[in-house]
Amino acid sequence: MAIYNAPVDPYSPERGYYECLTCGSRETSTDHLTTCSSCGGDVRNLAVPRE
Ligand SMILES: [Zn+2]
Repeated sequence: MAIYNAPVDPYSPERGYYECLTCGSRETSTDHLTTCSSCGGDVRNLAVPRE
């Protein structure tokens, strides 16, 4: 199934995917996050491939 006119693509590769190292909260952002919006702890970018 393909939706060409979807107003929002939740899986855009340009969107960063972050996980909080303190509370484990996960969130996406088009901006570079450095702190958790929930607890203010450090976050890591899960979208960065690690080989
Ligand atoms: Zn947090």
